[in-house]
Amino acid sequence: MSAEAGPMEGSVLHGVCPVDLVPWEPVPITSDAAVSDAVASSRLAAEEWTRRSLPDRQKILEKAARSLLEDRGQIVDLVRTEMGKLEVDALFSEGLGPLEVLKGWARVVERATARERIRLNPLSFPRKKAYIDLRPRGVVGVIAPWNFPVAGLYRSVYPALLTGNGVVVKPSEYTPRSSAWFLEHLQAVLPQGLVGIVQGGGATGATLIRSGVDAVVFTGSAATGRKVAVAAAEEGIPASLEMGGNDAAVVLEDADLDRTTAGLTQWALQNSGQACGAIEVVYADRRIADRLVARLAHAFSSLRAGPGPMAEVDVSPVAHAAQLASIEAHVEDARAKGGEVVSGGRRTGEGLGYEPTLIDHADEEMDVVREETFGPVLAVCRVDGPTEAIRRINRGRYGLTTSFWTRDTARAERLAERVSCGVVTVNNHALTGAIPELPWTGTKDSGFGVAGSRHALSTFTRPRALLIDGASDPEPFWLPYDRSAWLLADLLADAQLLRLERAWRLPILLRERVRRVKSFFRR
Ligand code: NAD
Repeated sequence: MSAEAGPMEGSVLHGVCPVDLVPWEPVPITSDAAVSDAVASSRLAAEEWTRRSLPDRQKILEKAARSLLEDRGQIVDLVRTEMGKLEVDALFSEGLGPLEVLKGWARVVERATARERIRLNPLSFPRKKAYIDLRPRGVVGVIAPWNFPVAGLYRSVYPALLTGNGVVVKPSEYTPRSSAWFLEHLQAVLPQGLVGIVQGGGATGATLIRSGVDAVVFTGSAATGRKVAVAAAEEGIPASLEMGGNDAAVVLEDADLDRTTAGLTQWALQNSGQACGAIEVVYADRRIADRLVARLAHAFSSLRAGPGPMAEVDVSPVAHAAQLASIEAHVEDARAKGGEVVSGGRRTGEGLGYEPTLIDHADEEMDVVREETFGPVLAVCRVDGPTEAIRRINRGRYGLTTSFWTRDTARAERLAERVSCGVVTVNNHALTGAIPELPWTGTKDSGFGVAGSRHALSTFTRPRALLIDGASDPEPFWLPYDRSAWLLADLLADAQLLRLERAWRLPILLRERVRRVKSFFRR
């Protein structure tokens, strides 16, 4: 999945439709100078945008969101062409969300950015009022992956704009037009230049980081995330990193196997498993593993995979040839190490299709368990119970999301305490990624970024302290210093230790010090 192997040729991006392998129209790569111009234009436009109220910003963005919903048919075709996503999947995951998600983000921003009044000790800070305001950072650079080329942008572009920033986005080289479709709808209603789009591969992403942005939001693989973190550190700017995952589902002995089978199938195969939060590994209690594997095998072999038209296919081809090769390599590795391919395990034979693949008797020696496969592949590890499952999950390199499947939800809550990951779901999986009010985050190689909720706002804003002094007299501890200043400090220290024998002197001393300072400066 490395972007160095991206589809670049000279000054254009090129690619093929994974469904029929027909090349799509090449997209020009943005020059380095034009990347800098995009950042400068965004900064200029943000000066005025920052001064607008949140309701005003929201109203304008809602106008764009409505037009995105009106035009949803266009995005279904675009993502199908660029990355092969099924039409119905595209409508659900890319077409349906722009307005609802915007409203969710507006609620988050409204609550989280309300001015905070800080109570100060009136003895130490007489007649002073203090506040914390969250101020926009300026221009946020967004570097995006290809798997959700529209919906994946909501969580960076919406909060960045709602909090008063400009944004410049570099879409994935595999989905340049799909992401541009979303951003162009915003550009149509926002001040000119506020939202910039720069096209290209990893080199353009690296240029964007060096082009004067004030923060970077990166979503992509762990290997690229590390490079982005280094580049951002060299620029002295913060980077939010949302990286890979190979999510685990833990199926307990009392799970409702009907719902569990349907849920695991959905979250392993939706978008052909090309989601950071896709279930890649199931830790199944030995007591129910045979029954679970039999049900999953039936489901996987009954679903229709391949490039066919809507209503004839459930699982789409994968997005690009390098992705397909990586999936095949992982499955072959599992076979070679003793994994039993119960269903699938080969190409569909048309386009970039790969059959839904179930591998039983998997373990951490295999890439399908240890690494991110990012395809329609599910590995089953049989375990003695949740304690073993959690121990094995916690030893893994990723920690994005984990789900527990059980009728005993109180037990699942206790188990959730013990697993190292950013999101835990009980009897469902990863759906919280679409809810702006909840944090989407990870541990370890899944990255330390937070997308979603008020906790994400530190990426887009920085706190600014404001203190307003209503006092008319100078302060008792200001220059010039003398013996009474020393005594004042000494008594204040004693007061903190509740040694109050000399405390009666404090009011007198305070008045005396103020008089001293005043008279000194009156001379
Ligand atoms: P990728 O790391 O190959 O590329 C991601 C983006 O980084 C692309 O736009 C690419 O051009 C750019 N890039 C590459 N090298 C760069 C560099 N040196 N400097 C700056 N930018 C550079 O990832 P991908 O294959 O596009 O996406 C799939 C990965 O994204 C998977 O690992 C998946 O788990 C992850 N992902 C994570 C989340 C999450 O929320 N954690 C969400 C979606 C996808």
